[in-house]
Amino acid sequence: MLILIDTINNTTADSIFELISFAEMLAGTEQSRIRVIIAGENVADISRKAARFGHDVIALEHPDLRFPNPDFFADEAIRLVDEIKPRYVIIQHTMRGCQIASRISAAGGFPCITGVESFIHDGDSVVFCKSIINGKITVGLVPGGERAAFTVLPGAFRVPDITAGHRVPGQVLHRTPAGGPSHCRPLGIRESAGGEVRLEESDVIIAAGRGIGTKENLDLIRAVARLFPNAAVGASRTVVDQKWLPYAHQIGVTGRTVAPKLYMACGISGAQQHIAGMKGSQTVVAVNKDPHAAIFSIADYIIVEDLTVFLPLLIEKHAKKR
Ligand SMILES: Cc1cc2nc3c(=O)[nH]c(=O)nc-3n(C[C@H](O)[C@H](O)[C@H](O)COP(=O)(O)OP(=O)(O)OC[C@H]3O[C@@H](n4cnc5c(N)ncnc54)[C@H](O)[C@@H]3O)c2cc1C
Repeated sequence: MLILIDTINNTTADSIFELISFAEMLAGTEQSRIRVIIAGENVADISRKAARFGHDVIALEHPDLRFPNPDFFADEAIRLVDEIKPRYVIIQHTMRGCQIASRISAAGGFPCITGVESFIHDGDSVVFCKSIINGKITVGLVPGGERAAFTVLPGAFRVPDITAGHRVPGQVLHRTPAGGPSHCRPLGIRESAGGEVRLEESDVIIAAGRGIGTKENLDLIRAVARLFPNAAVGASRTVVDQKWLPYAHQIGVTGRTVAPKLYMACGISGAQQHIAGMKGSQTVVAVNKDPHAAIFSIADYIIVEDLTVFLPLLIEKHAKKR
């Protein structure tokens, strides 16, 4: 199995190592070799970190890989897949991940399953599960052949516990892309406006969805957030698309991935793209007036109510208690 990881400025979040869990669980008791490829300009440190999980790491280094460069990474990954012939190629489910995985599967002539959330063994087959129709339906897919590429939803698996079991660090091999020059050379990165929102560091996130109805109702969301220390306001993509909040607040597969102690989803339906970004939360409270909302399937506390009724009551009750 081959795990592909790209980096931004030679770093990546530790959560990326959840791909190692996915590969190890997939390997099960089989002695499948797992190799991790880390692409960047100088990824010695992050490669050593990855090798501590006990698998060999190929540090793929080139100045044009300092910032995400999916085409260039895919070119070299195709060469590596051709050399190593892994059964499975695994990459995180992001726009870039989908771009790379689809090119590799097309070049290798094997299937690509995107957005994998879990898998189950069914006799001799492995069934890979993903959500469709805004998270309302889960579909199981069996690759038609021995080999496949997967993009795995962030947060669907936990980073392996490095202290559990005896893991002998793998080797780190350095490699320079054989091809080049890169067709496209990223010049750098710039933080988007509102980048100061520290969602990942908040203990509590009160998240707004389209169900808030109007931008003005964000005041309600902010008022609830103020009830807690270290709380932040999050949003579904719809809220960001409507320009009610800047992109820095977006949670989900194309936004931030968060795992706060408490996540309160207000007027959010629970599309899989949103859930992918918050399902690691310790406790989930969902407020939605639709009793069949998909968000309820992952919520610990379900409040079937109009949020414009419930949230003011919550704030009032809290004020009285104080
Ligand atoms: C490639 C791709 C990437 C995406 N990435 C993301 C992402 O990163 N993050 C993300 O969030 N989405 C993402 N999406 C969009 C996602 O599919 C959904 O469309 C989006 O999450 C829906 O947002 P929502 O839940 O706010 O709105 P809706 O789905 O419209 O849900 C609104 C909910 O509010 C409830 N409601 C309405 N009025 C009230 C009320 N007064 N009180 C209580 N409840 C009420 C409704 O019952 C409903 O359940 C992505 C989509 C694609 C295709």
